[in-house]
Amino acid sequence: MNVLVVGGAGYIGSHCVRQLQAAGHRALVLDNLVYGHRAAIAEDVPFFNEDLGNRAAVTKILTEEKIDVVMHFAAYAYVGESVTEPLKYYENNTGNTIQLLLAMQDAGVTKFVFSSTCATYGEPDTLPMVEDLPQAPINPYGQTKLQVEAVLKDLAAVDKMSSAVFRYFNAAGAAEDGSIGEHHDPETHLIPLAIDAATGKRPALKIFGTDYPTPDGTCLRDYVHVDDLSRAHIAVFEQLENPGTFAHYNLGTGKPTSVREILDAVEKVTGMPVPAEEAPRRAGDPPSLYADNTKARTELGWEPKYLDIESTIATAWKWHQSHPDGYPE
Ligand code: UDP
Repeated sequence: MNVLVVGGAGYIGSHCVRQLQAAGHRALVLDNLVYGHRAAIAEDVPFFNEDLGNRAAVTKILTEEKIDVVMHFAAYAYVGESVTEPLKYYENNTGNTIQLLLAMQDAGVTKFVFSSTCATYGEPDTLPMVEDLPQAPINPYGQTKLQVEAVLKDLAAVDKMSSAVFRYFNAAGAAEDGSIGEHHDPETHLIPLAIDAATGKRPALKIFGTDYPTPDGTCLRDYVHVDDLSRAHIAVFEQLENPGTFAHYNLGTGKPTSVREILDAVEKVTGMPVPAEEAPRRAGDPPSLYADNTKARTELGWEPKYLDIESTIATAWKWHQSHPDGYPE
């Protein structure tokens, strides 16, 4: 299939491009490189440096390249910034996604895979988190993702789109060979920051909150390997054959890991201590988020391969060792 990967130069998108190629599909990338990295995409992958909100340009690409499926990874994803700059998030994550959907309508493309988030659930009442929990985001970032989900549901109801929505938990790790990985600027995620603290590239890691109602007082999250996430995107193609689909899946390992457990695992993998200091809670962090992934396992035959956090961190470490400053540009 011809798959346009929107945001394909970003962290999860670039890993998905690799998986698509490995599965024999033709992957093409559209990315405006605001947060993406050209070096994350192999030279032989057709690349369009374009804004997803440019309806006419995107329609032309979809038509000329005979695109069968659009996978949409492009979004602003800094939760804190979404609180202080909500319009930036509504404009890009919601508004530009609607432009993309309009371009797909213009070009007659009806299959869509969307990167959503466990942040659409807000603070869950029950754990592990199943797909039919109430969705009540506690920040504009989660809200924008939920808005797109609502649009996709409405389009499916009138057979205008077949969508698969993946609600990711915490994406982590890097390609097994260390050739592509996580490079955010600014970086806010726990694992890369802990690795940088271990190597001395950054100051001591701040542990945000040690008084949560969790076994060791730090937040529990579900760290799912980026290649496992990517594999689910390929497994979902069959679902999209049914007109009017709105399929939605939690993608997580199902295993909770605390901040302190991450720091211990980083120490083991790198063989270096992670300097850390206790700090106040970060606003908007729910104590515990981890997935019930039964639906993805049973309906998609999806099996996350990285179930042990050290094996995930080992891939992040391999990427870091070969690219201590991330991508060149
Ligand atoms: N965290 C931390 N110190 C940091 C960055 C993150 O203690 O410097 C914690 C954060 O409070 C959360 C967990 O690590 O409980 C994962 O945070 P991250 O930003 O990686 O992902 P999020 O869960 O916010 O999507």
